[in-house]
Parts: sequence; C-alpha cells; structure tokens
Amino acid sequence: MPNPLLDTATLPRFDKIEPEHVLPAISQVIAEHRARLEQLLETAGEPGIDSLVAPVEKMEHELSRIWSPVSHLQSVLGSPAWRKAYTEALPLLTEHGTEMSQNEQLQRAYAKVGKELSADASEEARSAVDQALRNFHLAGVDLEEADKERFKVIMQELAAIQASFEHNVQDASDAWSLHITDVAELAGLPQGAMTRAAEHAADKGVEGWLLSLDYPTYDAVLTHADNRRLRESLYKAWVTRGSDHGDNADWDNNENIETILALRHEAANLVGFKTYADYSLATKMADSVEQVITFLGELASHSRATAEEELAELNAFANIDLEPWDVTFWLEKFKQDRFSISNEELRQYFPANTVVSGLFALAERLYNVVFTETGGVASWHPDARYFTLKSVEGEILGGFYTDLFARTGKRSGAWIDECIGRQQLDGDVTLPVGYLVCNFQPPDADGVSLLTHDEVVTVFHEFGHMLHHLLTRIGFPSVAGINGVPWDAVELPSQFMENFAWSYEVLTHCSAHRESGDPLPRNLFDKLEASRHAGAALAMLRQLELGLYDFRLHAEYDLDAPPRVLETLAEVRDEVALIRHPDYNRLPHAFSHIFAGGYAAGYYSYKWAEVLAADAFGAFEEAGIFDPAMAARFREEILEIGGSRDIMEAYIAFRGRKPTIDALLRQNGITSS
Ligand SMILES: [Zn+2]
Repeated sequence: MPNPLLDTATLPRFDKIEPEHVLPAISQVIAEHRARLEQLLETAGEPGIDSLVAPVEKMEHELSRIWSPVSHLQSVLGSPAWRKAYTEALPLLTEHGTEMSQNEQLQRAYAKVGKELSADASEEARSAVDQALRNFHLAGVDLEEADKERFKVIMQELAAIQASFEHNVQDASDAWSLHITDVAELAGLPQGAMTRAAEHAADKGVEGWLLSLDYPTYDAVLTHADNRRLRESLYKAWVTRGSDHGDNADWDNNENIETILALRHEAANLVGFKTYADYSLATKMADSVEQVITFLGELASHSRATAEEELAELNAFANIDLEPWDVTFWLEKFKQDRFSISNEELRQYFPANTVVSGLFALAERLYNVVFTETGGVASWHPDARYFTLKSVEGEILGGFYTDLFARTGKRSGAWIDECIGRQQLDGDVTLPVGYLVCNFQPPDADGVSLLTHDEVVTVFHEFGHMLHHLLTRIGFPSVAGINGVPWDAVELPSQFMENFAWSYEVLTHCSAHRESGDPLPRNLFDKLEASRHAGAALAMLRQLELGLYDFRLHAEYDLDAPPRVLETLAEVRDEVALIRHPDYNRLPHAFSHIFAGGYAAGYYSYKWAEVLAADAFGAFEEAGIFDPAMAARFREEILEIGGSRDIMEAYIAFRGRKPTIDALLRQNGITSS
C-alpha cells in the first residue's frame, strides 16, 4: 500500500496517516530530493529562476507539506507513538535543512542567478533569491569543513533538545492534578470549570473533583477561586512546570536550557555573530541589540507610572499585600466593582461557534471573501472542522482546519500553523491550507463552549495570522504568506485583528447569550470597554519583562561563565516588574516560546509588531473601521505580500508614513510622557 503521507494530491490523509509512515516517507522524500538536486546542479547549465530556483522551491514546498501533518499530529494528539515518530524523523529533516543551506555549489548557483537577475524580474523572485543567499550565509556555507560540520551537528542537537524541552512541559502539566473532596474549597469557581473537574474525577474513578493543569482550569482558578491557598497551589504548579521544583526530576528542563543557550551561542559565533541575539536580528526588522533594549526600556518607562497607579489602586481595593496568585483574582473583583462587569457574565454571550461565525462575517466584510464549512474532510479528532475560503467571485483561495478545545495530550496555548503553503510556479498553483488550534474549555453536555472575552481576543489574533497565510498572492513558497516575513513583523496581522474584538458592532455579530440567544447588549459592551485599560499597564510591563529577559539572556551569554538563567530573570524583574515572585518561580523552565518555539531572542517581536498593529488600526479608526478602501489597501500592501518586500517599505506604502508608538500607548490607556 502506498504511504499516505506521500499522497500530496489532496489534503493530508488524516484518516490513513499512522506514526509508522513517518520515517519511511521522510527518508524517501529526502533521498529523492538529494538526487534531484544533484541532477539539477549538473544539468542546469546557466542557472536561472526557472531552471534552478523554482525547482528547489518546489522541493522544499513538497517536503514541508509532507512534514506538516507529522508536526501537527504530535502537537495536537501528543500520543507516545506520534511523539516517537516525530522525534525520530526530526534529525533527518534538520540534517537535510542544513545540508541544503550549506551546499556551496547550490549557493554559487543562486549567487549567479542573483547577479544576473534581469531588471524586470518580479519583486518576489528577487526576494526569494536574496533571502536564500542570506540563509546560506547564516547556515555557515562559507565555513571551513570542520566548522561547517560542527554547525550542522549543533542544529541537529538543538532541534532534539528543544523538542524535549516542550515534551517535559507537556508531561509535567499532564501528570499534575489536585484532588478536592470538599466543595467549599472550590468556592467562586465558575460552573464550567466545576463540571469539568467533576468529570475528570469521575473519569479517574475518584470522589469529588480533580483539578488539572490545562490552561482553562489554571485560568479559572486564578481568576475566580476565593480560596487563596488553592490559587497558590495552582500558581505554584504552573510556574514550576518542567523544573527542579516540579513533581518529577525527569522533567526538569534546567540542563536543556543551559545546553540550548550554549549551542545557540556557539552557532552564532561560528557564523560571525557576537551573540545569538545578534544572529537573531540578522533576519528581523530591528537593526541592533541596543535598538531592541532601548525600545523595550522606553515602553517600560512610559508604562511604569500608570502601572504603579494601577497596582496601588488594586492593593487598596484588595486591602492585602498582593501576591502573584492574587493579582488576576483581585483585578477581576475590581472590574466587577468598578465597572460592574464580570468575565463569567460576559462569557455567557460568547459560544465558540457564534464567535467563529462572527469572525468570518467580519473578514467577509473587510476582504470580500466567503467562508464555508466543508464536510467530509478527513481529520485527526472529532473536534476538528474544515473551512474553505473563496473570493466573492467564487475563486477558491485556500482552506483551514480548526481544533478549538483543550484535551489531554494536546500542546497548550493557541497557534496557527501552515499545513500547505501557497505555491505558483511554472503554471501550476497550490493553494494555502492552515491549522488554527486553541485550548478553550471543551463543550459542555449541551455541546456549548463559552469563551471569555480574553479568549475571543485570542481567536481574533490567531485568525489574523490565518488571513496572512491564506490571502497571500505570492507564488514562491519561501516568501509566501507568513514565510520569509521578519519575525518581528509576523505579529502585525494578528495583533491588528485583535482590535476588532473591541468593536461593539463586531461583537454583536460574535455573540448570542447561551440562554436567550441575545447579542451582547450595548450597556454590557460599554462596561467592557470602560474596563479595557484596567490592569493594561501592568500587563504591558509583564510582556516587557518577558521580552527583556529573553533578549538579555541571549545577548549577555558569556562562554566563560555559567549561564545566568535565574539571575538575569531576577535583574530584569528588579528593573521592570512591579509584582514580586517567590523564589520557587521557574518561569524559564516552561518558557516554550523561546526554548522550544521560534521566539528565541525574538519575544520582543510581540511588542515591536504591536506598535505597527496599533498604528495600522489607527488608520482604520480614522477612516472608519470597515472602510473598504482602507481594508483593500491593508490587504494589498500587507496581507498579500508575504515576505516578498521590505516590510517597512510596505508599511509606509500602506500608512503613508513610518509607525509611531503613540497609538499603542493610547490603546493601553497610557498617557505618553
Ligand atoms: Zn501570534
């Protein structure tokens, strides 16, 4: 029977793909590509876009679409068999990646193409070639043989250790639970969280309630549980995941962190950068380490006074010295008191399905597109659904899966990923397909999952990424959609989209009270809006703390001294944070964004791109947020271009000027000083 992973004629065969297909499929494709590349380089003669770049792009495109379901399934299923298949095949892929980008013959051919590219070559062709040339350099193509080999080994080790980092966090979360037999201890918890804890207990055959460490439970306890000790227990479990203070020493990420930092630093040095932070900036909008540190510091100093006021007000309101496990709880109480608003009351208006259809309606209005659910598409779980995106004229533009609810084994958080990238080379077109994954509270007995407004914002955010992926018009996969976009600009479309979750008109289409079916009433929205800035400066400082920590950790790494993982965190907190954390806090040990994801020396990107997003939304506010001309311009200048164009140039083309931080500060209720 043919290997279903290799069937690229359709969407991934999720009904057929099994872990045992992974290794043979990946080995086979890589071997074929290796042979094809050799042949290409021998016979290409005069290398050009058609004879070299297009075929290489097509091969990479094919490989990533075969790999995508593997990486996706190990994230959303997390079964041991999928994990094993993923971990076994990952080194092959990493090795192949480095081999390609260290291939001198290929680099010389690309350099020739670049030099001889005619003046009328398309911007995207030029970008694809330029970025490839840059990547050759960043992968050590110019190094001596021994150093080259070392760089390759480092990339392999990094990929494996980063995967193990993430698995430790997941295992530590999945293994933890807290058994409660006295209902009084759960006072304040919303019904949904109570029901799930009771079901969880019943599943495990124990009396009472079992709290787990998935994000919805953690968030519900920290926001609503009156029992301060219970909040502290959950907080402690959460901030010690994957650490020496966790329950199981096997999941301690300490050594992983130290090795990851050392390897990144060494790799950066090998290819001529002082630190990994400098290396990271080689592909970003930001120019220098100093610029990033200054940027974050400036935002912090603008926000500090407002944050101090917020905290003082909250302290006075709570009338206790606030510990980290108190802040969310008292902020919620404060909002209820000050604005007579509660997350739980709001949540009754936001069934997940209604939110998603309202979101589609918004995108349809802005971008003249239509979303329709497509049945009968093979998937990995009954929660998964598939939607097709068309233009109003009926042209199919792409499609995506959603998988919205938390379950055991599923990686926590919310994200989108590329299933298939857009490709349009020598006449044939492959349309983009993506995955949109969240961890919302699973539907109750009536099949309803209610979202908090924060979660509504999250789904808007991820959907913004999805539109970036789906609306691209670029044909070279390496610079289509999200690919080839500087990492500190990638969060522009997503954070831009978040703003719409604060529009009354948009929210009325996204809401239907679970009992009455009524949309969000105006007076409730007004309260929500009035409460928008409550705690915003504190939240800003929190993000700046994470951004500065990540950046300094990578920028200050010293080969001759032990890594200062916790010391740097303490220094950053002294400088930026207003909330004191206890000594057992091990934030780094579960900081997957930077130790397992793509945000290493790049977490600042959220704030960097948020400046662009807020400033871009400012243009919409000036024109009217549904203004068709404005939406068309945003689509053409930003969403469609992928990584084919210098992003600052593109931004100026959209906005008519460079961005400023004013809109972001205004959005957070911070008066610029
Ligand atoms: Zn994002």
